Amino acid sequence: MLRNKSKLNLVRVGSDITYSSLKEIGNGLLGSFHGIIGEIDLAHHDSPMIDSIDAQLLTLILGEEYIGNTLGITDADLKIDDGDEFYNSILGGKNPTNDVAVVSTKKLTPSNMVSEAAIDLFIDRTTKVALHEVGHNFGLTDHASFKLAIDGSLCPMSRGEFNKFGYRGYVRAIVDGRGLNFCEECKYFLRSVYGWRRSQNGVIKDGLVSSSNNAIRTG
Ligand SMILES: [Zn+2]
Ligand SMILES: [Zn+2]
Repeated sequence: MLRNKSKLNLVRVGSDITYSSLKEIGNGLLGSFHGIIGEIDLAHHDSPMIDSIDAQLLTLILGEEYIGNTLGITDADLKIDDGDEFYNSILGGKNPTNDVAVVSTKKLTPSNMVSEAAIDLFIDRTTKVALHEVGHNFGLTDHASFKLAIDGSLCPMSRGEFNKFGYRGYVRAIVDGRGLNFCEECKYFLRSVYGWRRSQNGVIKDGLVSSSNNAIRTG
């Protein structure tokens, strides 16, 4: 029997990202997984200032602390130990043995983060990588070829090739090219596996800070 995955723990690892940004990312996830994710619990995981962390280790640490569908967002570089220099760093990953995925904002940050547009771009990119990894948590697989959603943007599960673009190019071509809507194939999968709660309005629960933002209900 499938476990209830309608709740997602959205965990800030370290303090780099602001709570308002984390909430915006949460709202993006609720919108894109409308009818699938019903509740997002925002949480904070204390972490020392580190430059990089092993991706698998981080998923294991978060898996000990949180129950169920969990996404950790860190500003540290995520490393994977596959002996290949080029693939050493990842934007995001999912541990296939538990329900924990992680995203690194390290390579998603625009060079100049002072303008509002740059912050919006940062949130947009982080949301899109988060959608991809949470999609894996729900059992969605990568699209090796570019697959478009109904709005003409790339489906969040589009992957593309790193070595064709390099990191900066990859972020611009693939991550920025993705939209917030899944393609019909992915939507069909999600609906048939997890059902579809048509009347459901997603809720972000945040026990740590209060908010006057009326897009988010607290409690
Ligand atoms: Zn993937
Ligand atoms: Zn898709």
